[in-house]
Amino acid sequence: MDSLKLLSEYSKFLEDKKSEGKKIMAILAHDNIPEELLDAAGFIPLRMIFAGNDELMNSCHDYLPPSTCSFAQSCLGLFSLKPMAFRFLDSVNYFLLSNHCVTDICVSELISNNFKIPRLDFYVSYTRNENSFKYYKLEIDNLKKKIEIITKNRISDEKIRESIIKYNNFKRILSIVANLDIIGSKKLEIFQKAILFGPDIQPEIEKIIEANKGQEFLKDNNYKNLILTGCSIFIGDYLVNLIEENGGNVVLFDSWIGYNYYSQILEYEELKSTRNPINIFKKRFKNNKYGDHSVPKFLEKKIKFLEKYVNHFNEEKNKKLAIINHVIKFCDHFSLFQTHFKSKLQEKGINVLNLERDYSRSNKGQLSTRIGAFMEML
Ligand code: SF4
Repeated sequence: MDSLKLLSEYSKFLEDKKSEGKKIMAILAHDNIPEELLDAAGFIPLRMIFAGNDELMNSCHDYLPPSTCSFAQSCLGLFSLKPMAFRFLDSVNYFLLSNHCVTDICVSELISNNFKIPRLDFYVSYTRNENSFKYYKLEIDNLKKKIEIITKNRISDEKIRESIIKYNNFKRILSIVANLDIIGSKKLEIFQKAILFGPDIQPEIEKIIEANKGQEFLKDNNYKNLILTGCSIFIGDYLVNLIEENGGNVVLFDSWIGYNYYSQILEYEELKSTRNPINIFKKRFKNNKYGDHSVPKFLEKKIKFLEKYVNHFNEEKNKKLAIINHVIKFCDHFSLFQTHFKSKLQEKGINVLNLERDYSRSNKGQLSTRIGAFMEML
């Protein structure tokens, strides 16, 4: 589906939800947001997962220096320029600020202040110990209270549990999509749409799974198989199509729009039996060891995970798997450690391409050349 069609469908979806009395909360942060709490309170969590372009990036330079990640520049640009396809941003009622990265804090604050969107803050600890788990729970309790004040409605435990189970089931369905033997761009399209619309589109995804169950895409093609790790590929980005045009196929999206999202699931019995549903959020936060939210030892864990995945793929499919590390220019997290990341994986015999870029159109030719050369080498 092309992105304009998707955005127009989404616009209609939000209109319908608004007419049912729902409110919209936009979120820039990529991880650890308790979207189920928002859902239980009658909000639509609107994930800012849209790629940018030159116009959007340029339009935000009154507020931000060009040395800010191009994704965040574009998010601000979307609120500033409001291109036709993004008019639905006019209906955002609140902005949820979180500290996924420093840029996330700055840009959420700038959007809220300059475009007069009331803001709620939700901070997550960068450490992992008993105190940080307690702190995460405290922040969720605080967020719940703030939302209850806004809506003048209590959010019942049962409503929260219901939403948690709904999202948990949805993520399970997405993990089935991840295992379908179909071309990477198709999988990515499903993940992006899923994160944008949420569990409302579960029946549609179940139909896609049913229709593609028997596919054996990997068996009969000459594509070079890849893991795409690092920064997510947002809606409207051409990168995965460019990889495919150069003969590459992404079998695993090891990013927040992909593995990091759908792998955060818990057993149904645990969801049912945990007395206070807020503790389920805490448990999930504790389990989330692969997110890029500067978790201690996150890089070592990620390298181990990737090595295991590559070896397993080699054994099971008898095919090689290389890695493209996608780095959005000036990304607080991924630009810093890309050299170390690449050399550690190369020591293990895995080919890695660090692909750092911004959203300017002029980059496309150069990116294609670099991807093409990497594919040749494989
Ligand atoms: S700096 Fe990186 S993690 Fe932060 S908003 Fe930009 S792309 Fe996302």
